[in-house]
Amino acid sequence: MKVKNPAHAQGLMPVRTSIEEEKAHRKMMLAASFRIFGKFGFSEGVAGHITVRDPEFLDTFWVNPFGVSFNQIKVSDLIRVDHHGKIVEGKHKLLNQAAFAIHSRLHHAHPEVIAAAHAHSIYGKTWSAMDKLLDPLTQDACAFYDDHAIYDDYTGVVMETAEGDRIAAALGNNKAAILKNHGLLTVGNSVEEAVWWFISMERCCQSQILAESMIIDTDPISHEVAIKTRDLEVGFPVAGWFSFQPLLQDVMSVGLSFME
Ligand SMILES: [Zn+2]
Repeated sequence: MKVKNPAHAQGLMPVRTSIEEEKAHRKMMLAASFRIFGKFGFSEGVAGHITVRDPEFLDTFWVNPFGVSFNQIKVSDLIRVDHHGKIVEGKHKLLNQAAFAIHSRLHHAHPEVIAAAHAHSIYGKTWSAMDKLLDPLTQDACAFYDDHAIYDDYTGVVMETAEGDRIAAALGNNKAAILKNHGLLTVGNSVEEAVWWFISMERCCQSQILAESMIIDTDPISHEVAIKTRDLEVGFPVAGWFSFQPLLQDVMSVGLSFME
């Protein structure tokens, strides 16, 4: 990923010293993230998936089981999938084939990507109908300035890993991709970061759609200011992780059943 943490962000994230602790944390954040996606209304039937790489078995990842509501997912529902699409851990038997085809190849092509998020959220999929990147119209949108790409080869529901390879290539070293005629995809160094980018990007799509419905000539932020805002203020990995924390607090205040 191209945007690195600036010096002032060093030391803000807790350090976990064992693989067991890291694994438990990743799974808990993943389960919490589905509750957050549910709260934001990002579910669309059975579509949508968030994955996190296992810290011990690096060519496997944790994902939501197919056909379970985001609002119901607990840690004990998560499944671990290998690079052949086989469920190697977890009680559920069904895996979303698109989740495997996209995320397995993303995690394979980009070893630095720890987590990835995708859903058929309304503004992201509406934006994806255009062949157009987001503009830096607001401070929040600067996080995505020159840091997202378009995958413009929709061929139907993603079922083949070859298409996952093409999506991973289109993503490049950016934090996000607009899957044309489909929806948004974001990645990060942590679940927290990937999920925050997804939420923020969805809302940036909403914001630009609203702005362009009212204003004929929008007035984007300049290149220099957009880059500075991205790199030093809102668009680096720790900023994504930190922005996730209030959402986590809200989910935890409703109940801790997701941890079960
Ligand atoms: Zn999809």
